[in-house]
Amino acid sequence: VPERDPLSARAAATPDATAVIDVETDREWTYMAFDRRVDRVARALGELGDGETPPDRLGVLMDTRPAFAVVFFAAVRTGTTVVPLNVRETVPELADKVERTVLEAIVCERGTESTAVELADRAGGCSVASVDDPERANVGVRLLTGLEGGDASDDASAPDTRGGIDPETTQLIMFTSGTSGDPKGVELTLANLVASATASAFRLGVDPADRWLCCLPMYHMGGLAPVIRSTLYGTTVVIQREFDAGEVARVLEEYDVTGVSLVPTMCKRLLECDRDGDGGGDDEDGWQPPDTLRFVLLGGAPATDELLERCLDRGVPVHPTYGMTETASQIATATPDEVRRYEGTVGRPLVGTEVTVVDDDGDPVEPGEPGELVVAGPTVTPGYLEPAITEAAFDDRGLHTGDVGYRDEGGRLRILNRRSDRIVTGGENVDPGEVVAALREHPAVDEAAVVGLPDEEWGERVSALLVSTGDGLEYASVLAHCDDRLAGFKRPKTLAVADELPRTASGTVDRDAVRERLLRSGV
Ligand code: ATP
Ligand code: MG
Repeated sequence: VPERDPLSARAAATPDATAVIDVETDREWTYMAFDRRVDRVARALGELGDGETPPDRLGVLMDTRPAFAVVFFAAVRTGTTVVPLNVRETVPELADKVERTVLEAIVCERGTESTAVELADRAGGCSVASVDDPERANVGVRLLTGLEGGDASDDASAPDTRGGIDPETTQLIMFTSGTSGDPKGVELTLANLVASATASAFRLGVDPADRWLCCLPMYHMGGLAPVIRSTLYGTTVVIQREFDAGEVARVLEEYDVTGVSLVPTMCKRLLECDRDGDGGGDDEDGWQPPDTLRFVLLGGAPATDELLERCLDRGVPVHPTYGMTETASQIATATPDEVRRYEGTVGRPLVGTEVTVVDDDGDPVEPGEPGELVVAGPTVTPGYLEPAITEAAFDDRGLHTGDVGYRDEGGRLRILNRRSDRIVTGGENVDPGEVVAALREHPAVDEAAVVGLPDEEWGERVSALLVSTGDGLEYASVLAHCDDRLAGFKRPKTLAVADELPRTASGTVDRDAVRERLLRSGV
């Protein structure tokens, strides 16, 4: 683990290599130019705290864009902890996070300035700067200088911000997606981030000529990790602000992209986009991966067997990954070959990562037996913002992930569900995944989410939200279909249909939203 800022080492080693490409503006920066930009922002950060020292904790209220990466690496240089804030959240949701993380400053962009000012007002003593000229419309927003500007020939006399760094202090507080409750603040050190980058490069066989496309939100690990990694590897990251399947298809080709991370829903949309990139194609004339593309990492949520099969048929180099915010992303990654041979696998854990499968008493189980996955290793967070959550999640074996799965004889993992998803009805445990699988066998059901709703008699009742394939979905037919496949207590008692399943920004089904939807309109 470097004692010096890893970006400056990169810039010294490969100054002329391309570090970042911005799709929106079609601009690109070499490592040298990127490093200088980072340096100027690092100096500007000094004025954002108490006016003399950089802030201890800096909120970043921005969507995916190169400036996010610049601010992140500048913060590494000034010893500032970065707290990415979700631009899709409301002011009360964000205010809670600002308070919990005790921010001294917030960096925002055009479009999030007034929210940032409101948050700072509520928090008191928090300054706000924008990476875009705020046109002076918002009183109290400063311009974070140093982001624009070409070569920095006039910077030679400026003080060097590239001092020593402490890899064991918290560099990032990343919030989880909030699938199972309120998002939790996860503290990650630079050592965690470097370990994750190294192990994943080792697994994938990263080459200096690789070009990664980042089109996921950078306020989640899935979006920020590729950017941090690429910079550590010395490869190029292509940054695309918003996901749009047709646009991604174009960018993959135009920029000779070799790797991309997607959540399963995005991958599905990409497959459905036709060659002109305007969507709506069928499999015949559907999207074909360009020859340059070597990795399509799928993560954040389970990929269905059907999606994986379609990927393989189409020659998409699909690598299902299992990961979480708490491990700075990947825990395990499978190769296309493993996908072909082992149904539902997410592959072996990355080198250095230990996964133990344990029963309800915390004792290890045999291969093939399901249990909770417990993870340990250099990528694992030292803890959450709230000590009580840390206390509950860790034991001698490591971090309890809350995910249920098993390890096969070859050491490959398979994820089944989350502990908290288990439905208990009339004293029987129901695995929602099993019910979802049965529902999806119905010809008119495209997608399904299964949750427990409170029930006076049974404690919980199995309930399902369905997305139709468009072939006339009838409840009676779905129920009859379940009668043939599932024991009585596993059959859905409440059904509703939606245009699509509500999902979190990282692609997992938002189970609270599913519950609400079913309570409102279920029959
Ligand atoms: P919260 O912790 O707030 O409930 P979250 O767990 O969804 O939210 P993330 O850290 O973004 O927040 O997601 C990690 C989780 O996503 C994993 O613990 C796992 O449940 C799920 N997940 C990730 N990859 C896969 C996969 N390949 N298959 C199944 N589930 C996955
Ligand atoms: Mg989680």
